[in-house]
Amino acid sequence: MSSKDWIEKDYYAVLGVQKAASADDIKKAYRKLARESHPDHNPGDPRAEERFKAVSEAYAVLGDEAKRREYDEMRSLFGSGAFRRSARGGGQPGGMPFDVSDLFGGAAGGDRRFGGAGFQDLFSSIFSGGGGGGAGPRGPARGRDVEAEVALDFDDAVRGVTLPLTLRAPGVCDTCHGSGAKPGTQPRTCAVCHGAGVTTRNQGSFSFSEPCRNCQGVGTVVEEKCPECQGTGGVTKTRTLNVRFPAGVADGQRIRLAGRGEPGERGGPAGDLYVHVKVRPDDLFGRSGDDLTLTVPITFAEAVLGTDLRVPTLDGAVTLRVPPGTPSGRVLRARGKGVVRKDGRAGDLLVTLDVAVPATLSDEARAALETFAAQTPPAAREHLDARVRRVS
Ligand SMILES: [Zn+2]
Ligand SMILES: [Zn+2]
Repeated sequence: MSSKDWIEKDYYAVLGVQKAASADDIKKAYRKLARESHPDHNPGDPRAEERFKAVSEAYAVLGDEAKRREYDEMRSLFGSGAFRRSARGGGQPGGMPFDVSDLFGGAAGGDRRFGGAGFQDLFSSIFSGGGGGGAGPRGPARGRDVEAEVALDFDDAVRGVTLPLTLRAPGVCDTCHGSGAKPGTQPRTCAVCHGAGVTTRNQGSFSFSEPCRNCQGVGTVVEEKCPECQGTGGVTKTRTLNVRFPAGVADGQRIRLAGRGEPGERGGPAGDLYVHVKVRPDDLFGRSGDDLTLTVPITFAEAVLGTDLRVPTLDGAVTLRVPPGTPSGRVLRARGKGVVRKDGRAGDLLVTLDVAVPATLSDEARAALETFAAQTPPAAREHLDARVRRVS
C-alpha cells in the first residue's frame, strides 16, 4: 500500500463510519460489511468481491491504531482527494501547488520509495525543495491508465479465449520524436522559469513552488510547431494487443494488464490497461459463478413416473436420471459440466426441472386425467383452508 493510496482513498467512507468513530465501532462496521460482501456469500459477483477487498483494505489501516493515526495525519495534510487528478498524470499547471506524480516519481519508483516509510519522508521531500522531483524540470511521469470494453460470447467466456484488442491511444509523434518542434528547429528554454519548469511564489513565511504556466512545467517552449502533431509531441496511434481472457471470466469483471496503458512521459513507466468484460447471454445456458444453469421442461407424467433426460452441455450431452415423484423446480446437478478453471477446478451444470402444463388435451387424455384425478387424494391444502375459514 502506497502513500498515494492513502491520499486518494477515504477509508472512513468505505466503512461507513464517522472520522471520530471508536475502535470498537470500526471493528463492528468492518465485520458487518465483510460478512455481507464476502465472496462465499456472493459467488460470481465481481462487485461484491471488489467491495470485500476495499473493506478489507480500509480495515487494515483503520483497525490498526498506529496506522490509523498516520493515515489521519496524512489526510489532514493533503486534504481529501485534492490531489486525485494530478496523481493520474494529468497535472494541471496553476491552482495546485504540487504535482503528486512528481512527488511519487511514477508508480513503481514511488511505491519503492515510500514502501514501509512513513509520511515524514514525503513531507520532507515536498518542503526541502532541493533535487528530486519537487523543484526543477519535471521528472519522469507515469503514463495514463487506459480503459477498454470487450464483449465476449458466452462460450468464449466459459472456456477462456485470446482476442485481439485494437486500441486508439496517444503515442509519441514520429516526425518530431515528441519534442513538438518542427523538424530542424529546437524547443527554446522557457523565458519565465529559465528552464526550471517551476516558479516560486511567496506567501507569508511559506514559499510555494508550482509548475511554470508558460511552459506547463516542461522547462522549454516550442516556437515553430511540428506540423504533424501541432506542437503537442503526441499523435493518436492505433495498436493491437492480444488479450487473454481466462476461463470463467464473468460479465462485469475488469481485467488489468499492467504496463499496457499509455506510455510514460520522459522515461516514466507506462500506465495500466483495464479491460471491462461484457458477456453476451446464451440462448440456452445461464451462469451462476462457475456453475452453468439450464431449465428443462418435463411433462407431469415424467415428473411422477420418472424418466431419463438427455440434456446438452457446452461440451457434448449428458443423461440425467429424474427419479419418480420429482417435484417441479427440482434442480439436478451434472458434476463438472460447468466452467473449468485453469487449475482444474470445475463448476457444475445445474438443471432446473420445469413441469409443463398442457394448454389443450385430446379427449382420450382428458378422460385419462379425469380418471387419474378421481383416484388421487386432494392436494395438501388443509392449513390454507383453515385460514380461509377464519378470515371469511
Ligand atoms: Zn510532432
Ligand atoms: Zn517555464
